[in-house]
Amino acid sequence: MKIPLIDSKAGYLSLKDEIDTSVTNVLSSGNYILGPNVQALEKEIADYCGTKFAVSVANGTDALVLCLDAYGIGPGDEVITSPYSFFATAESISRVGAVPVFVDIDEASYNIDYKKIESSITKRTKAIIPVHLFGQPALMDKIMEIANRYNLIVIEDACQAIGASFRGRKTGTLGHAACFSFFPTKNLGGYGDGGMVTTNNEEIAGRIRMLRAHGSSKKYYNSIIGYNSRLDEIQAAILRVKLGHLDSWNKARRAKAELYNNLLQGLGFKLPEASSEVVHVYHLYVLRHPKRAEIIKGLENRQIGCGVYYPVPLHRQEAYKLQYSDTSLPVVEAASKETFAIPLFPEMTDDQQTFVVAELKKILEEIERQSL
Ligand SMILES: *Cc1c(COP(=O)(O)O)cnc(C)c1O
Repeated sequence: MKIPLIDSKAGYLSLKDEIDTSVTNVLSSGNYILGPNVQALEKEIADYCGTKFAVSVANGTDALVLCLDAYGIGPGDEVITSPYSFFATAESISRVGAVPVFVDIDEASYNIDYKKIESSITKRTKAIIPVHLFGQPALMDKIMEIANRYNLIVIEDACQAIGASFRGRKTGTLGHAACFSFFPTKNLGGYGDGGMVTTNNEEIAGRIRMLRAHGSSKKYYNSIIGYNSRLDEIQAAILRVKLGHLDSWNKARRAKAELYNNLLQGLGFKLPEASSEVVHVYHLYVLRHPKRAEIIKGLENRQIGCGVYYPVPLHRQEAYKLQYSDTSLPVVEAASKETFAIPLFPEMTDDQQTFVVAELKKILEEIERQSL
C-alpha cells in the first residue's frame, strides 16, 4: 500500500464539480484581480475567525511582511519569534529590516516557550510572532500578558492553524493581527499561492490594503511605497468553496490524530501533546524518536510518506549562520534532530492508518535487531 504524507488532490476530487464551476465562472467573468470573490472571501474569513477585518494578499509570507510593515516595524527593531518554524517566519522579519530574536521552544508542544520570552526583551523589541506550529495554538494568554506589560505588538503566525482555537477563541483573533497561508498543503489550501491577514485594527487593515496595491487606495495615486501582493479571483473562488468544508476536515484530522495516538501508544515514540486549553487542528502529525534516520529510511522503502519539519532550526539556517553563531537553543536543536511527520490528511482511511502503524512497528523491530 502506497500512502502519501499529504494528499492535496483528494480534497479537490471530493468537490470537483463545485470547484470547476467556480473557476469557470471567474474565467468567464473577465474580473480577475480584486474582484467580488476576493471581497467575499475576506468577509467570510473575518466572520469565520471572528475578527472585524480580513485582508487577502498573495501568500502567507507576504501576509507576515505586509503586517510587519503596516505596524511600522523595520530597521533598528527586534521581533521575538520561534526558531522552530518554516523559514518565512524569520525571513519576513529580516525582509522589513528588523532583527529576529529567537526564543527556545517548549518540549511538549514545540511552540515558543513563553517562560523564556521576557528575558529576551530589550529596548528595541517591538513585536512577538508566536507560531502555532503543526496546528496547535501557542499559549496565547501568557504571551499577550507579557506583550501587554511591555507594550509589544503580537502577530500570530497562524499559517498552519486555521480553525484551531485557544480557550474557545479561534486563531486569527488571539493577537493584534494574524497571518494565514493558503498554500495547497495547508489545512485550507488553494491551488496556487494565497494569504490573509486578520485583525480588529481598522488602521492596520487599511494600511495592508494599501500596501498590497502599490501603496495606493486610489488607482494611480500612490501615497506610500508598497508591494504588488494580491490574492487572485480564481484562488479566492476556490477557497470560498473549500472554506465551507474546513471545519469537517479539521474534525477528521483530529479524529485521525486520536486514532494514531491510540495505535502508537507504548512503541517508544513521543506522541503529539495537545494542551487541554487548545483545539489542535493537526496540520501535521509529528512523532519524535532518536532513531529518526533509520525510521525514515524504512518508511521510504515501503512508500509511506514522511517528512521532517524542520531539519534545521531557524538560527542555524545558512542565511543566519553568522548572525546567530553564539545563540544556543538546546531544546529546539535536540528536537529538530528527532522529529518527523507521518501521513495525515482528512480523507485518510482507518485501514491506511493501521497499515502505517503496523509498518512502523516492523521498522522498529528491524532497527532493534540490527543493533543487537
Ligand atoms: C506556510 C507557512 C508560511 C508561509 O506561507 P506561504 O503561503 O508559503 O508564503 C509561514 N509560516 C508558516 C508557519 C508556514 O507554515
